[in-house]
Amino acid sequence: MQIDQDLCIACGQCPPYCPVEAITLDDTAEIDLEECAECGCCLRCADCPVDAIFQQDLSYPRSVRSILSDPLTIAAESGISGRGTEEMKTNEVTGRFKSGQVGIGIEVGRPVTGARFRDVEKIAQAVAASGVEFETVNPTTSLMSDPSSGKFKEELLDERAISAILEFSVSLESLPDVLEKLKNVEGKVDCVFTVCVACKADEDENVPVYDYLNEAGVWYAPNGKTNVGLGRPLVKEA
Ligand code: SF4
Ligand code: SF4
Repeated sequence: MQIDQDLCIACGQCPPYCPVEAITLDDTAEIDLEECAECGCCLRCADCPVDAIFQQDLSYPRSVRSILSDPLTIAAESGISGRGTEEMKTNEVTGRFKSGQVGIGIEVGRPVTGARFRDVEKIAQAVAASGVEFETVNPTTSLMSDPSSGKFKEELLDERAISAILEFSVSLESLPDVLEKLKNVEGKVDCVFTVCVACKADEDENVPVYDYLNEAGVWYAPNGKTNVGLGRPLVKEA
């Protein structure tokens, strides 16, 4: 995103809308292109009185910032807008997470901090060592050059987004190994990440994943935003 320096009257409306604090205000407002995640918030929300904010041409690889940071941008590879699939974001209705499995979403970066793909790659490579298979229709997976190793395309490593989500599912028994890999990599990245785990409750309404998280000493908030099975499942397990 850019600001036309000849038009800006420094009214101060746009800086507060930037989730990564990339807009500075002096005689005019300016956007630090290194930090800008191309989320589109300033253009859509600041209501610039002189229409000074404009979207420059976004060519690859910078365009991936917009794919993951702007919820209105649709990734050409996956046809999905936003950073993750419906199963991890809101509701698991396609039956992706079978009984005995746990769906995992790792959100790398948050508003204010953002994340560079160099760090997303470190986390992806750490869990790939456990043999996980990244979800193919997730937009972040489409940015990898080798999903089996978690390696990202070289030209993307210095690009950044507000956050990127890694998605995969593993057996419940494999969860401790994945959590251990994540604990080992947490001190090696210059960003924050959060881990979402989703699984089906059993017939007695127990949530099997709790035992594994307790055993691993991991703090968790049970009321996450993924509502496994609260929609109308489109498939039934045999
Ligand atoms: S596009 Fe988003 S990240 Fe970039 S300057 Fe505007 S609000 Fe900030
Ligand atoms: S909203 Fe427009 S005029 Fe106001 S500071 Fe931002 S770019 Fe400048």
